[in-house]
Amino acid sequence: MSFDLSGRTALVTGASRGIGYFLALELAKRGAHVIAVARTVGGLEELDDEIQAMGNTATLVPLDLKDMPALDLLGSSINDRWGKLDILVANAGVLGTISPVGHVEAKVFDNVISTNLTSIWRLIRSVDPLLRRSDAGRAILLSSGVAHTARAFWAPYAASKAALEVIGRSWAEETKQMPLRVNSVNPGATRTAMRAKAMPGEDPETLPHPADVAAKIVQLADPALTITGQLYDVRQDKFLHYHMPS
Ligand code: NDP
Repeated sequence: MSFDLSGRTALVTGASRGIGYFLALELAKRGAHVIAVARTVGGLEELDDEIQAMGNTATLVPLDLKDMPALDLLGSSINDRWGKLDILVANAGVLGTISPVGHVEAKVFDNVISTNLTSIWRLIRSVDPLLRRSDAGRAILLSSGVAHTARAFWAPYAASKAALEVIGRSWAEETKQMPLRVNSVNPGATRTAMRAKAMPGEDPETLPHPADVAAKIVQLADPALTITGQLYDVRQDKFLHYHMPS
């Protein structure tokens, strides 16, 4: 799908590899300036090289998303430099360990909730005023099918994604009269490091490449998008509509 994002700024978390890396490239390909967040500097620099090779620019932000005060500062830095934010992609996430809910270590549970949920709320809090200033603000929250299937042994991860979707829906309700559109995404099983950790016996070649998945998710950044507060399913290439409050 071709739409133009020239002059727009997009913040992408987890841009050092996997789905976030290719989403950042998709956004840059359409002309957006990408603010790329992750901890691994090497991955961010590789992304920067690719974006520069296509004649665009990126801003690299090496950051641990569990550093909550840093997320507060990120919003004010974006405000100082651009005065608004057009696109937020909350993509970074961790799986934690796959184990019975009663066996999950407290530090693992805390890490999953802090990375997959608390940091995203904190980031939303930091950039919400900036997204509201855009004439076509877009927020894209990376969820998972397990938010709905409640798969055995995936409790902390599934709970973090279910809660994230609810935050997204609440935020969409609060902003539905504005240009801002907020949607969650289920990318489906994708050939990344996270999936390999979750399913070590699986042949990665049987899974879609993250570049192909990102090429679909980027539609949610289209300034012409009207849908808000919904869940986009990549595999089915369609929105699975939630019941919205009347
Ligand atoms: P990867 O593990 O390949 O990449 C995760 C990204 O998140 C990395 O860039 C990593 O960067 C970043 N990240 C993790 N923790 C932190 C942190 N504390 N601070 C900053 N960045 C962090 O995952 P995927 O690409 O597979 O997943 C992307 C999203 O899609 C996730 O939200 C995941 O839950 C979701 N998803 C993925 C599926 C799949 O099959 N792959 C299926 C369903 C949902 P770094 O380590 O450099 O900090």
